[in-house]
Amino acid sequence: MLSEGRLISLLVETIRKAAVSLPPDVERRIREAYVNEESGRAREMLRAILDNIKLAREKGVPLCQDTGLISFYVRAGTKSPFIKPLCRILRRAVTIATKEIPLRPNAVDILTGVNSGDNTGSFIPWVSWELIPDEDLLEVTVFLKGGGSEAPCFSEVLSPAKGLRWAMKLVVNTIARHGPNPCPPLIIGIGLGGTFDIACNLAKKALLRPIGSLNPRSPLAKLEEAMLELINELGIGPYGVGGRTTALAVHVEAAHRHPATFSVAMCVNCWALRRATLSIGPDGHWAIRQ
Ligand code: SF4
Repeated sequence: MLSEGRLISLLVETIRKAAVSLPPDVERRIREAYVNEESGRAREMLRAILDNIKLAREKGVPLCQDTGLISFYVRAGTKSPFIKPLCRILRRAVTIATKEIPLRPNAVDILTGVNSGDNTGSFIPWVSWELIPDEDLLEVTVFLKGGGSEAPCFSEVLSPAKGLRWAMKLVVNTIARHGPNPCPPLIIGIGLGGTFDIACNLAKKALLRPIGSLNPRSPLAKLEEAMLELINELGIGPYGVGGRTTALAVHVEAAHRHPATFSVAMCVNCWALRRATLSIGPDGHWAIRQ
């Protein structure tokens, strides 16, 4: 079994991986956009983003100065010895990672605005749990969510009479209104159905799906493709310079809804979709992947 100290150092490496190295699926999509983009200015901007990605990886420095707020998505077997101390371990790993990588401290008190100095604070890092009965495994995904792309995020509970068409209109209008501010090209997560908090959770988790994957339900997969097309027709382009690359992907996740409500939530991420996953098996074998 891994020691607590070893687990902390593996988590620090997982945070480092997320901060300095863009996942290959996201980089691949940016490369494809660069090849297919017709606007010269948009191509230049995509080239600069690709150079930034390469430099960050080579020099081992963060892809962006904005650390974002840090969330962890944990899948833990109920037999894992780390369940009880994990929240404390995650905070410790964030504190060390902030100092060692280094990461800009971003967590400030809601009333005083005072920065905690180490990217931890009340409910931060946020931890989402999924427990797997009778297993001894641990899978921790770290997600660094940039602040610039937070402003367009929203949730709304519509009447079913308004339904899907209205929800999609809201998504496109919100992206259009915020223009270059969330640092496009964007990855857009949309959550539908459930209660408002379920829709928000689905929208954020949708960002963690591999870029290029489609919703397994064919009508929702078609909706993803149609929304991507529509958003790219807005012509905002990378960092607002115009062109067809406003978004890299739209991911939709849906829950059953109450007959009287139609919840919709949108979670937006800039091109710097920083995530990495640490997996530990029962024999202590581990892997960090993106
Ligand atoms: S929104 Fe993304 S690219 Fe823009 S400053 Fe924040 S992390 Fe960086």
